[in-house]
Amino acid sequence: MTDEFLLLNPGPVPLTDDVRRAMDAPLVSHRSAAFEATYERAQRGLDYVFSQSTLDGRTTGDGTSLILNGTATMGMEMAVANLTENDSEIVALVNGKFGRRFKRIAERHARATPVEVEWGESFDLDAVERAITGDTDLVTMVHNETSTGLLNPVAAVGELAVEHDALFVVDGVTSIGGDAFHIDDWHVDLAITDAQKALAAPPGVSAIYVTDRAAEAADGESAPFYADLDWHLRKAESNQTPFTSAVPLFRALAVAVENIREEGMDARIRRHHRQSRAFRAGFAALGLDSFPTVEEPTQLSNTLTAIELPEPVKAAPEEFFDAVGERNVSISGGQAHLGGEIFRVSNMGNLTTQQVLRGVRTVGEALNEAGIDCSVTDGVDAARQQLEE
Ligand code: PLP
Repeated sequence: MTDEFLLLNPGPVPLTDDVRRAMDAPLVSHRSAAFEATYERAQRGLDYVFSQSTLDGRTTGDGTSLILNGTATMGMEMAVANLTENDSEIVALVNGKFGRRFKRIAERHARATPVEVEWGESFDLDAVERAITGDTDLVTMVHNETSTGLLNPVAAVGELAVEHDALFVVDGVTSIGGDAFHIDDWHVDLAITDAQKALAAPPGVSAIYVTDRAAEAADGESAPFYADLDWHLRKAESNQTPFTSAVPLFRALAVAVENIREEGMDARIRRHHRQSRAFRAGFAALGLDSFPTVEEPTQLSNTLTAIELPEPVKAAPEEFFDAVGERNVSISGGQAHLGGEIFRVSNMGNLTTQQVLRGVRTVGEALNEAGIDCSVTDGVDAARQQLEE
């Protein structure tokens, strides 16, 4: 068992050596042919990741992968700001922190009608159906809600959006690159992902997939200057961004997405599902409960696991988190009001079987240290069984 630092937060995630090394090369100008080649490599890799998965095996065709000099929130705001006017009506689905972020962005740029449930609860699709009407211009939702570990039903909401001819913008930040995401079949007009999540690249840049329908609807004049979608699309034709690109991060992203292509999206998704099952089985064998309660068609996330802390640990959660940290492992607690209530562990990126098992072992040992009686061996064995399937 290695003592190397193990990052199991739901982003940023560990980098492979080749991705890290890619940032080390001598710098070039963001207006050079060398950079344009990097942009193109990253863009082709992203095309593969975004378009891997129409249900009937077709390739999603009519869109453009764009790389942004900013994290995923830039993509979320860019989508909303470019696709709406002040008086546009946005239905924003909220069941966690990132759904709420979309609602806040919607309120800043247009008129928002939230469909809101408690963090960690499934959406009532009847309520969503009532909220989306002929007056709705745009619907926002988060596919994989990182704050709670829920996989929200994008397909069902996409049907409702298309029925009312509303544009559909989906945050696939912690699903794309690690789980199935069907842009065409789910009627998604613009999808957002982040480098530092399942793509396993360093934080600082993100990517969006802009379908032709979204590109036609975009009005850069109404957007922040830095996030003018038309301008980004125009510059992408020559493999550049409108403003100075974060050259080392683009290089790292290019290698990360090429690694994904090498593994193959189908195999990668199967691995993520397997590793997520292993975490869940391991934690269940330690006597822990899943935090979110799911109702079909909502599912538990396949890229991160949110677990309710046992009651005695909730009284003094620092002891548990310190014990995890002392083992040179980093996991996340709950965000906002879920602080001290849950912990979250990611399996995004390129984790090995040993790293998953170390995650379960570490949580088990930290629980023991915090006074919880559980069998670390049972936890690790249950996880190993899933990984061997
Ligand atoms: N959306 C989701 C689902 C996320 O998990 C995150 C980050 O964790 C974001 C959006 C926003 O990312 P950032 O804060 O890096 O812009």
